[in-house]
Amino acid sequence: MIGAGLAGLAAVAGLAAHGTWHRNSFVFGPAITRLPDQRAVSITFDDGPNPRATPLILDVLKREGVTATFFVLGRHADRWPELVRRMADEGHQLGNHGYWHRKLHRRGPGYVRDDLTRGTESIERASGGVRPRHFRAPHGFRSPWVTAIARSLGQRTVGWSLGVWDSARPGAEEIARRAATGLRGGSILLLHDGDGYDAEGDRLQTAEALPSIIENLRARGLGFATLPD
Ligand SMILES: [Zn+2]
Repeated sequence: MIGAGLAGLAAVAGLAAHGTWHRNSFVFGPAITRLPDQRAVSITFDDGPNPRATPLILDVLKREGVTATFFVLGRHADRWPELVRRMADEGHQLGNHGYWHRKLHRRGPGYVRDDLTRGTESIERASGGVRPRHFRAPHGFRSPWVTAIARSLGQRTVGWSLGVWDSARPGAEEIARRAATGLRGGSILLLHDGDGYDAEGDRLQTAEALPSIIENLRARGLGFATLPD
């Protein structure tokens, strides 16, 4: 009985911790988790730019006339600034994903401020002056100060409504199938044009899946929107 009670308590504590760190949790401040417009979907990419996948993804978006949001990693922007410039020039929204891509939920405020500030500066430098208005934490992990520090930099924190585990490379068809099954009007889709740990990591499946993801949404009468300011 006591054992069961303790197990129950542990489960509740586990849930609370998970809920607190969850990307869409309001415990550590508000996050954008859905679009106000129920007739549109927002396509977002994390961890780029990537030298092979990002140009292909930009080609698809241009051909299809779709505007997306890129949560750029400062460390990768420093390496391939011309790709960040291209995102901006082609009308896409640039968001901050920090600089180092370490999980932030156990880091102190000094570390978090430094990581977010460096990420912002790299994006501004690479893009020719675009100041990001949104921030997404690596893995969505936050703490009491992450969202407040982002806000002090003029950035709203963003979660996502659907992740399709494209970073595990299950095959382009499977990525497109998961997106088609899970997306609804108002959804924010998380995809990866880069790899937060390996700067040259393979994200070609995501690029390959993108045309069918867009085609499926169009066939259902849904449009595309960037994130609200
Ligand atoms: Zn990431």
